[in-house]
Amino acid sequence: MSSTSTVLITGTNRGIGKGLVTTYLATPNTTVIATVRDPAHPTAQSLSSLPKASGSSLIIVRLDVSSAESITGAIETLKSTHGITALDVVIGNAGIADLTGPPALNPRLGAPELSRAVIPLLRASKAEGKGKFVLISSAGGSLTSMNIIIPVAAYGASKALANFLIKWLALENEDVLIWAMHPGMVVTDMGKNGFEALKEKGIDVTQYVISVEDSTRGIKNVIDDAAAEKTSGKFIAYDGSELPW
Ligand code: NDP
Repeated sequence: MSSTSTVLITGTNRGIGKGLVTTYLATPNTTVIATVRDPAHPTAQSLSSLPKASGSSLIIVRLDVSSAESITGAIETLKSTHGITALDVVIGNAGIADLTGPPALNPRLGAPELSRAVIPLLRASKAEGKGKFVLISSAGGSLTSMNIIIPVAAYGASKALANFLIKWLALENEDVLIWAMHPGMVVTDMGKNGFEALKEKGIDVTQYVISVEDSTRGIKNVIDDAAAEKTSGKFIAYDGSELPW
């Protein structure tokens, strides 16, 4: 990365998204664009009091990833109000977990509209190397791992769809680095619900669970080290290991 960088992260008022905002704000000379569904909510406003390294700053913008209008509106606001004409890193983190029932896909959470809106700005990145688009996916969306990871149908299927789209986007856009990441089993609202659901099926994942800090530090390391051949079009865990699709 160059000496200054601009990073946009979706779904940041809690969980891994908030952890990523914390990690990037602690990095000098970083403009962090934290997108939330409701900027007026106290959890979103609490982002403003996170510690900032020298030269780093925070912009909070409303963005609901399930709405194409909201995504394009957020990008327009960034351009017109904040003068943002280029992005170095975009992390599509926002997500929901439907842990029950048959697949009820929400393809919009698979990031096609988000990627369409931000790829032109990533192409304008002046950072060393290329702009980077990372989708926070889940090992629960891996077809190869279905035999060893209890498949939660709706959630796993929407992540598998997202993985397909990421691989396709990476092939279509060689001028941007694009890949999917598994953040680990992380202690968040969603994570805790998932661990409980697995426990009810007799599976105790306690030994694999990691903190938000460990997950986000790992994700940032992978992003910092990303390069075309070793990263783009891949499915990579927070610890840098490559996962099967
Ligand atoms: P949380 O439930 O703690 O947080 C989810 C975040 O996404 C919240 O900020 C939420 O905002 C936001 N969000 C949900 N829907 C939308 C939407 N339509 N538009 C904008 N923001 C939205 O989850 P995690 O932090 O655990 O998960 C983050 C990502 O990591 C998800 O994509 C998840 O699938 C993935 N993941 C997590 C794992 C874990 O163990 N925790 C394991 C594998 C993958 P709001 O507060 O407004 O609801």
